[in-house]
Amino acid sequence: MTPVIALVGRPNVGKSTLFNRLTRSRDALVADFPGLTRDRKYGNGMLGDKVYTVIDTGGISGDEEGIDAAMAEQSLAAIDEADIVLFMVDARAGLIAADQAIANHLRVNQKKTWLVVNKTDGLEEHSAMGDFWSLGLGDPWPIAAAHGRNVSTLIDVVLEPF
Ligand code: GDP
Ligand code: MG
Repeated sequence: MTPVIALVGRPNVGKSTLFNRLTRSRDALVADFPGLTRDRKYGNGMLGDKVYTVIDTGGISGDEEGIDAAMAEQSLAAIDEADIVLFMVDARAGLIAADQAIANHLRVNQKKTWLVVNKTDGLEEHSAMGDFWSLGLGDPWPIAAAHGRNVSTLIDVVLEPF
């Protein structure tokens, strides 16, 4: 089975930017995935000889009503479908309450979860990691989705068991 990677996090942390980077190789095929819905976006990518599927979601704000609640539902569905969860946070915004709310959900989820700190371009790596350690989701992984910094290193590591 092709490993499935879900991108979750609050809006604007860079999920879609990472999705585009991870799926733009080859033909960026739309993944053939059971239960496909238009509210979750599926794509395939390849690193070395490993093929993977990525799911992009609208995001969870941690305090949902109306359309936000629907987006949160999509994120939870994506987590259920995934083998690997990349929980994205924003180095520039720093740790905010919404991140805490999502982390609380992810900590009780059984899926292998990686804490990915995006937008570290132009930031000193150590200070970019800031308070994110306190989320209790292990070592934060600094990346810059828009520029590709550390992205293939991260994917290489997360795909290692597959
Ligand atoms: P999403 O709502 O989580 O899907 O976030 P988007 O991918 O739409 O990105 C939100 C904003 O963050 C956009 O303006 C992106 O250009 C910007 N962004 C994404 N990745 C990076 C990055 O690595 N560095 C910087 N500086 N900006 C980024
Ligand atoms: Mg998006």
